Amino acid sequence: MSESTQRWIDLRSDTVTQPSQAMRDAMYRAEVGDDVYADDPTVNRLQELAADMFGFEAGLFAPSGTQTNLLALMTHCGRGDEYLVGQEAHTYKYEGGGAAVLGSIQPQPILNQADGSIALEDIEAYIKPADDHFARTRLLALENTIGGRVLPQEYVAQATALAKAKGLNTHLDGARVCNAAVKQGLSLREITKGFDSVSVCLSKGLGAPVGSVLLGSKDFLKQAHRWRKMLGGGMRQAGVIAAAGIYALQNNVQRLAEDHANATLLADGLRALGLNVSVPQTNIVYIDIPAAQCAGLGAALVAAGVRASVSPKMRVVTHLDVSADDMRRVIDAFRTFLKP
Ligand SMILES: *Cc1c(COP(=O)(O)O)cnc(C)c1O
Repeated sequence: MSESTQRWIDLRSDTVTQPSQAMRDAMYRAEVGDDVYADDPTVNRLQELAADMFGFEAGLFAPSGTQTNLLALMTHCGRGDEYLVGQEAHTYKYEGGGAAVLGSIQPQPILNQADGSIALEDIEAYIKPADDHFARTRLLALENTIGGRVLPQEYVAQATALAKAKGLNTHLDGARVCNAAVKQGLSLREITKGFDSVSVCLSKGLGAPVGSVLLGSKDFLKQAHRWRKMLGGGMRQAGVIAAAGIYALQNNVQRLAEDHANATLLADGLRALGLNVSVPQTNIVYIDIPAAQCAGLGAALVAAGVRASVSPKMRVVTHLDVSADDMRRVIDAFRTFLKP
């Protein structure tokens, strides 16, 4: 398939979306200023909008979710401090060890349960006593959604309350927290309640080209602001990209339900072909592919105009640039490969 003549159905991630024309129009019109001087009215508007929608005092715009997570970890924890985190969590596993490398923060990874949670007993057991032998346990970091799974809301309340009771702060890696909220019919305020800080990606399912927002108290973000400058995240006329974030928060949250429906459509269709497929809670589907078939399937999908990361534990992600019709085409491509 020639890329120039036909559109790819790209299921590698929900980060692959193109800004829509309306989003581009908002970017084109954005009023800008130098955000390092806090002079960019559009960045300020995005930060205020996000803070209001999620129920926090303030927000801070940064280039990526990796950076907003790192800002949070470095603000909550100092040198020789420790954070409790899931083995599967993005901040631990997929951010290059940044907390340790750049923050001198020790991660204490803990096994994730099947539903993505960290058992309350484990949280309690891993908190270190005040003793010179140990790092100082300061923070509990959760992730919602985690691998596409929605943390049970009752669990979130219990885990954040336990952390509070033990004197720990709490951070939520909410890269896809809007998916979790829409799935459960909760407001963004309800789903992030109990956390001291939350990182939200604008560039995943929400469809903006760049950026994440860190939410917290004014005082917390004042410190995070200093780390952002140190890490090279101080941007200048960033209103051009912040405008896309505003558009995303105002237009693309509730529609995430379509992505969830498409994930279910795809999962059901592939399961009907005899494949072992996860039951998606949000926009991520996992498919078991026999190792011997991976190369062949990869080629068949490319031939059908489908981009996907084929592996024995294959992950596909739906987003606003794929439709229900596209899901049917993907199922057809699998069918043709499996039952030629
Ligand atoms: C994508 C993602 C991030 C980081 O976002 P980037 O903008 O790619 O740095 C953090 N946490 C989770 C759970 C993510 O999925």
